[in-house]
Amino acid sequence: MANDKVLVLEGEMSLVLRQMNKTFYSNKEIFLQELINNASNALDKIQFESHTNKNILDDRVIRLIPHKANKTLSIIDTGIGMTKTDLAYNLGVGFYSTYLIADKVIVTSKHKDHDQYIWESQPGASFIVNNDINAQQPSRGTNITLFLKDNQLEYLEEVTIKNLVIKYCQHISHRIYLWNENTKDDWQLINIWFHNRERDSKHVAQKLMNHIPDDFVFSILSNLPLKSLKRFGCVRRSWALLFENSHFMNLLRNNFICNHQSYYDDTYLLLNLSPLYQNHYNSSLFSISGERFQNMEKLYWPSQIQEDYLEGIGILGSSSINGILCLYVKDLVYLWNPTINEFKVIPPSPFKNAPYYIYIGIKYHGFGYDCVRDDYKVVREVSFFVNSDDDVEPHDVFPLSCIWEMYSLRSNSWTILQLCDCVPTSFDDNNKFYLEGMCHWLGYAESCIQHVVSFDLINKVWITTLPPLDIPMEIYDNKHFVRRQLFLLNQSIALMSNYAETTTFYISILVEVGKKETWTLLFVFGPIPYIAFPIGTRDMGNILFQTHDGDLAWFNLNTHTVQKLGVNIHGGYSQLVVHKESLLTIARINS
Ligand code: ADP
Repeated sequence: MANDKVLVLEGEMSLVLRQMNKTFYSNKEIFLQELINNASNALDKIQFESHTNKNILDDRVIRLIPHKANKTLSIIDTGIGMTKTDLAYNLGVGFYSTYLIADKVIVTSKHKDHDQYIWESQPGASFIVNNDINAQQPSRGTNITLFLKDNQLEYLEEVTIKNLVIKYCQHISHRIYLWNENTKDDWQLINIWFHNRERDSKHVAQKLMNHIPDDFVFSILSNLPLKSLKRFGCVRRSWALLFENSHFMNLLRNNFICNHQSYYDDTYLLLNLSPLYQNHYNSSLFSISGERFQNMEKLYWPSQIQEDYLEGIGILGSSSINGILCLYVKDLVYLWNPTINEFKVIPPSPFKNAPYYIYIGIKYHGFGYDCVRDDYKVVREVSFFVNSDDDVEPHDVFPLSCIWEMYSLRSNSWTILQLCDCVPTSFDDNNKFYLEGMCHWLGYAESCIQHVVSFDLINKVWITTLPPLDIPMEIYDNKHFVRRQLFLLNQSIALMSNYAETTTFYISILVEVGKKETWTLLFVFGPIPYIAFPIGTRDMGNILFQTHDGDLAWFNLNTHTVQKLGVNIHGGYSQLVVHKESLLTIARINS
């Protein structure tokens, strides 16, 4: 089995095929043009090599063999052939257009310097590549056999094939023969160009044009999730260049904003407004709805939380998880399901009993769900300061030490996380969210370098990703302090950057945590002078911003319009949370 190779990209492949079907639904015949072009290119290559290598037999033909009884169409060329690696990694959109009319494909190919291999499609959009033990050496070239779908048998008809070759393959400068099934011994030469060898400069241009038009390729690929697209970029180098094509990037942006995310079905938004009145944060909770978020309805915090806390109430993360919100007030933390009004106090810090001269500072970093253990978890950093001078604010002094701990609802207790390095800490309430088993935040490591921290709740490990170099380097110098905000944009990790003095914003999407090369700059907009920083988002590219004078406003990434919300937080803070109602109880897990 050493020569077997199964493609691991099944998911992406089937997405490409689905997209391809949508795009080419009424233009399936394009497959023949693609295969004949590929064959012709392979013949060009061998022709080129035969100039310098006299041992190469210069028999250059393309043969088409329809076989009605087997419902197969074979396209055979005596070109350069493909190696095992070509077969496994190089086939692209052109080749996969065969799936428009075939449900199974077998490729046998022999590169002139390599063994013969068989590429065979497998159910579920994967394939296998095997060494062809039955190969009759020496030969050279490629045989592609398409097993036609029952409703595509017209491509076995002589007239259809001839017409397609006339329509698409006039420029091909190699002989194309069609096997005549009726006479069984008759090869017909079917390309006109070869009959009247009038080479003109036009045909070169036409040759280039006869590939699948960019528009089609773009529309197929721009509909894929970014992750699949980037992975394809690794497989096929030319696809990576797509990210430099402005037309493609426009399509991608548009699809990114407009493609519906089912995650947002039946959700609504909660807004925590905590304006500052006389040194007092007055936190109020609202649900907001309406097309332009114009309806605001006041909700009530759980009655167990007393309202006279000077600190205000915070919501940890940017969403509820299975209907449960994590609230924190100073160093107390609670779980709350507003739908059934279930409330639970999380046990206090085990470090409460530290000596009087030690001050403890707690920063909550993440609330998330561990799907392996069906458990809810809270991650926080506990710092220890010496309480020597009452006038000094604790965050002004350097902590003696810090530890990270994690609460598990199932065990209803905190455990210290054994982490080898110092984890970058977040100082901001809005830079944190939970996504797919991980809590993410934007943290500062030593020497004030920002990192995206992704804490895996299941395996208790954290991964950091350096920010992208999305801001043009020319204006990057010490005078310009870069501001960054991490937030969830349509269920993707998004980082917004701007220079403190300017209001042009750059939004990059992180495709794979830990891989800074997968940051993809998607949006640049501005200048919008009154915008200060994002509070959060919903889908459809609506971002809630805080303005410099404390107002809140929606910005639409699609239309670039701004819609003020009509509230001001007067030096306080605000948070936006995506919430979905659920009847799941907290007690179900912790009883
Ligand atoms: P694209 O549309 O990006 O050109 P294709 O799937 O049509 O993708 O082809 C990808 C590559 O596979 C070609 O560039 C070529 O290297 C190789 N290839 C495809 N068909 C043949 C063939 N008949 N003979 C030799 N190489 C081929």
